[in-house]
Parts: sequence; structure tokens; C-alpha cells
Amino acid sequence: MSSNKKYDVILIGMGPSSIFCAYELIQLRKAKNVLLIEQGKRVENRICPIEKTGKCTKCKPFCNITSGFSGAGAFSDGKLSLYNSEDDDIYVGGNLHKYVGVDETKKLIDYTDKIYLKFGADSKLEGVEFKEEVTKIRKKAQKERINLIDIPIRHLGTEKAHELYGKLEKYLEENNITMLFETEVKDLIIEDNQIKGVVAKSVKTKNADEEEFFSDKVVMAVGRKGANWLSDMCNKHNIDTRAGVVDIGIRYELPDEVMKNINKYMYEGKFIGYPYPFKDKVRTFCQNPSGFVSSEVYDNNLTLVNGHSYKDKKSTNTNLAILVSHNFTHPFNKPIEYGRNVAKNLNELGQGNVVVQRLGDINRGKRTWQEELDRNTVVPTLKSAVPGDMTFAIGYRTMTDILQFIKEMDKIIEGFAHPDNLLYGPEIKFYSNKVLINEKFETSVKGLYSIGDGGGMTRGLMMASASGVQMARNLEI
Ligand SMILES: Cc1cc2nc3c(=O)[nH]c(=O)nc-3n(C[C@H](O)[C@H](O)[C@H](O)COP(=O)(O)OP(=O)(O)OC[C@H]3O[C@@H](n4cnc5c(N)ncnc54)[C@H](O)[C@@H]3O)c2cc1C
Repeated sequence: MSSNKKYDVILIGMGPSSIFCAYELIQLRKAKNVLLIEQGKRVENRICPIEKTGKCTKCKPFCNITSGFSGAGAFSDGKLSLYNSEDDDIYVGGNLHKYVGVDETKKLIDYTDKIYLKFGADSKLEGVEFKEEVTKIRKKAQKERINLIDIPIRHLGTEKAHELYGKLEKYLEENNITMLFETEVKDLIIEDNQIKGVVAKSVKTKNADEEEFFSDKVVMAVGRKGANWLSDMCNKHNIDTRAGVVDIGIRYELPDEVMKNINKYMYEGKFIGYPYPFKDKVRTFCQNPSGFVSSEVYDNNLTLVNGHSYKDKKSTNTNLAILVSHNFTHPFNKPIEYGRNVAKNLNELGQGNVVVQRLGDINRGKRTWQEELDRNTVVPTLKSAVPGDMTFAIGYRTMTDILQFIKEMDKIIEGFAHPDNLLYGPEIKFYSNKVLINEKFETSVKGLYSIGDGGGMTRGLMMASASGVQMARNLEI
């Protein structure tokens, strides 16, 4: 069945990049005839059962953590990474500055931050008060050849992020943005290398017909959840891409007590090292003081680990990701497939769940048993995680990188390598493949654009949102 409606622009996905694009289109009075299509639910209907049951029930057809209005942002910890005004580069959140320049990116972040504040973000900034203490930690890190990147952070908290995006959803609706929920974009309509529209299908009923929606401007804002779909589209329609990186690693959980200085002075410490012998880039990411480890389900039922923290509900543990960046060249250059295989093998070891193992057990060359976990001083916050042995599935190179990095971090933060600390796997960031775009974010297909995390331009809430603002400014409608 075909819908006759033609739109000025269609946005695929309703994550932060798409939402902020729609918001800015309204400000620029370009939003008369805009369609947003999202496979997940409205933000108020997104409920992750794990909060009540403690178990991931693999919501069908789509995981509520990664899909729906506000995308991966709804259940995210809501740490908005800003920048240091004195820095002459942008170190966190992705590569928007490679397209629009560093100064413009800073202005975009300022502008986007004001929108977050307008819709209820906390005015308090973390990481600006304790400059002297942070300098001391940075110097200590440098001795271990580890860089510490400290930038101001605005922390929304998971429950507040939900509320804030709820207000944005209402705002877009009140300003005549058409939003189609629980509708999956199946294909792109491209003729003579010009985008013409999309083919979509409702996921609410089993045998729904496919529908066509037309526009000569389509923005793909599909996030990491849509990385696989995007990859398929690029292959099918010959959209130019370049193999990207895949970040493979684990979620690390340790007592707040060990992380107390980092939590207090920075809220989130971003440490980057290149440990021997491989010298791969290893970094900490998404640190959650007094937080909770969580799981999320991706395409093909892959269960990955993540973490978040609430403004009010607290645990006594801090969790953070330790990720290793892997590039592939020749003859193998399929980072998504590589990451998937690692995740699949790990999921099999955990009977479809995240696997958890104590650091001390890995170092002693043994698996972790439930009885040992029950007696462990670090109590796991992800109850559905299955104790086991992740070294069967994580490659030697990645595992060595992670263990070496943890050892080096222990010299900066005493207790970082305590044997009771917990590793959960797999934590994988599928940014690849990178969709090739020009400075207006247009792909090799005329009128087809890519923004946010999905195409590999960004890696975080703030920069994804800012990429949406810039997209709206780039669109000539
Ligand atoms: C648990 C968790 C915690 C996080 N914590 C933080 C944090 O504290 N700070 C931070 O900066 N970042 C955090 N992130 C990352 C952050 O959420 C993302 O960087 C950001 O949401 C990216 O925005 P986006 O618009 O590019 O994509 P997304 O937010 O991923 O949104 C993409 C949307 O597109 C939809 N979609 C995909 N394919 C299709 C299709 N074919 N048809 C229709 N719809 C489709 C998806 O359902 C999804 O809703 C976290 C992520 C997770 C999962």
C-alpha cells in the first residue's frame, strides 16, 4: 500500500539527533511538513522490565532500552559531555568538529546545552570545582602513560532524562511535527542516485502492509541500534562507506569507595591508555557513580551490557566501561561482524545473558561460580548476569589489553585491580561502518543525510543532539 503524502523531510529514528533536528526546524520555521518515523514506542510507554523483575525479558519486537522516542537516550544515564573552553580540540562525543570545525562545534554544544536546560536539565555542572585535585590525578596518570580527559558534565540521571525527553516529545507534537511510532523503516527509495522516500511497516500488527512515504530529503538518524540496518542499506544501495572501528570490551564494577575521588572531583574520569604489547587504544567510558549495571538487546537477540545511574536511587558500586578500539584492514574489514561474533559467543556462554566474572578469577585462570559471587565483597548490581568465564569468548588481544590497562590504572587509583572487582561482558559499541558524508552531512546519494551515532559521526548524547541542530540548519527547505 502506498501513502500519497509527500513530506519536506523525513527523519528515520527518534533519538536525540533526530529530536534536536526537529526542534531546530521548528525554531527556523522550516517544520511545516516534517515526518519522524520510529520503530520503538512513545517515551512514556517505554518500560524496561528489568527494573521490576531484575531480569531482561528481551522485549519484542524491540528492546525498550535502545528503541523509542529519545532512542538510547531515554534510559541513558544522561551525562551530557560539554567541553573545556581553553582546549583547542574536542575530545569527547565523536567527530562533529571534523565536519563543522572546533569553534562551531563549541557554539553548537552551548546552544544545545541551553535547550537541555530549558527542558529541565540540572543547572549544576560536574567536574569544574576541583581543578587542583584533577591536575594531581592527571600527573599521576601521565606517569603510567595514560591520559586523563576531564571535561564538564551535566548529569541528568536516568529518571530525569525520561522526564525531559517526555517534555520534548510534547513540544514537537504541539508544533505539528508528525511522529509515527512502532513503525520500522524497511528500505529507502532511491532513483538515479536521488532519494525519493522510504518504505515502512507498522510493527503493531503482524501482517501489516508496507507503506511508502515520499520526500526528496531523508535523514538517517538510526543510532547504534540501527547500525546493522544502515550497513545493509549502504550495501544494497551503494551508499559510500568506509570501514570504521569497533569498540569491544567489558563493563567494570567496583566499590564507590575505590572511585570516591574520581566520582567527587570529576563525576566521570575519561582515561585513555595504549598498553603493551599491542598498544591498542583502551579507554574508560560512561562511568556511573553509585550506579547500576544494565543489559540491552540488539538485533538478532544479542545481549550487551551497559550501565547507568539515577539521581535518587543509589547503589554502593561504581561501574564504567573499559573499551578497546579495533580497526581491520585487509583481507578482513568487517568490524560489525567481528563484534557480533564476540557477542554471540559470550552470550552462548551465559545462556543468552551477560556473563560476569571476578578479576581475581581471570587472573588465576578460572571461571567464577555462583557461590563465589554470593560471597564476593563487590555485590553485582545486574542480577541477571551469569557467572562464568569470558576468556573463552573475548579474544586474546582484547583481553590482554583490558587486563594490562586495569593493572596500570591500579597505580593511579588504588584498589582498581582488586580481585573482587567484577567484569561483565560483552560491552560492544557498533559505530561502524562510517557512512561517508560531506560538510552538509549528505551521503553519496543526493538528498540522503546521516547524523548521530548510527553513521559513526557521534558517540554521545550531547554531540548527537548537536549534530541534529546543525542538520536542521543545513537543510534547505
Ligand atoms: C544504557 C545507555 C547509557 C548511555 N549513557 C550515556 C551517557 O550517560 N552520556 C552520553 O553522552 N551517552 C550515553 N549513551 C549513548 C547515547 O544514548 C547515544 O550516544 C545517543 O542516544 C545517540 O543518539 P542518536 O540519535 O544518534 O541515536 P539513538 O539514540 O540510538 O536513536 C536511534 C533511534 O533510531 C531508531 N531506529 C533505528 N533503526 C530504525 C529503523 N530502521 N526504523 C525506525 N527507527 C529506527 C531506534 O529505535 C532508536 O530509537 C548511553 C547509551 C545507552 C544504551
